[in-house]
Amino acid sequence: MPQLTIVVPAYNESAVLATFHQRLGLVLDGLSLDCNVLYVDDGSRDDTWQIIEKLVAGDARTGGLKLSRNFGKEAALTAGLDHVTADAAVVIDADLQDPPELIPALVEQWQAGYDVVYATRSAREGESGFKRFTAAAFYRSMERLSDTAIPRDTGDFRLLSRRALDALGQLRERQRFMKGLFSWIGYRQTAVHYLREPRQAGTTKWNYWRLGQLAIEGITSFSTAPLRLATWVGMASAGLAFVYGFWVLVKSLLYGNAVRGYPTLILVILFLGGMQLLALGVIGEYLGRNYAESKRRPLYFIEEQRLPRDSE
Ligand code: UDP
Ligand code: MG
Repeated sequence: MPQLTIVVPAYNESAVLATFHQRLGLVLDGLSLDCNVLYVDDGSRDDTWQIIEKLVAGDARTGGLKLSRNFGKEAALTAGLDHVTADAAVVIDADLQDPPELIPALVEQWQAGYDVVYATRSAREGESGFKRFTAAAFYRSMERLSDTAIPRDTGDFRLLSRRALDALGQLRERQRFMKGLFSWIGYRQTAVHYLREPRQAGTTKWNYWRLGQLAIEGITSFSTAPLRLATWVGMASAGLAFVYGFWVLVKSLLYGNAVRGYPTLILVILFLGGMQLLALGVIGEYLGRNYAESKRRPLYFIEEQRLPRDSE
């Protein structure tokens, strides 16, 4: 029987964990797969780990990892996924906002041959208009700035096949924007739609400060557009400065200038200013390349291969 591991990052989730485990268990019982569950305690300060230990003791197909401190959801997910040996893994939040009942639908697409099956929410219930607006603005700017298309209204709730897991395992960059990495690896990806429920209990671990940081992380790790911006602004202002400088020069040669020393001064300032901006842009370009190199991402993944047989 194919194996499936459910990876659940949990940070201060003691209020919902037992309910979650129960609901998940019901769903897994209905699947004709060899299922197990891996909880990752992301350095919780409440008794999340004690609850996980209890779940592990009471259920042979449940396991747990306890991180040494709170590393953030992205790191917790990576830790969990690194420990998956099954044929596929599902990533799901512990707060029941991602309905476990959707897992069979994800599995169905996997069995139909997809490598990444992500769950896209059709509505964001229980979230303020402002959060919806900021989320929409974020996805829109990511789409424009980055070469990696990140599916909209899609969280981390998804299924990954074995080869998708292996590919993801090779991305060891420290600034991890998982939503981006999931799409970056490629392979056959598809969506399953669902209604996102409000959190069952406990409070969200995200505030606008953390969400803002995540957004900046997403943009800076999947595009060098902000660096490129320096080049364009530099070129544009250097160009304008040179044109203006030339005009001041011609004007003072033809008509003279009432303020003595003004034309030389303005020419020197504009020339140096323009050169500095250009030089900054050049540095930005090299920095962008250096940044891309330092991530040490693999250059490609092969989906299928038909190599020529040796003609003896
Ligand atoms: N989480 C985590 N580490 C953190 C923050 C969150 O492992 O530092 C987990 C959390 O326990 C939950 C999931 O990530 O299972 C999503 O978190 P949350 O519900 O707070 O985010 P939201 O649903 O509001 O995006
Ligand atoms: Mg949540």
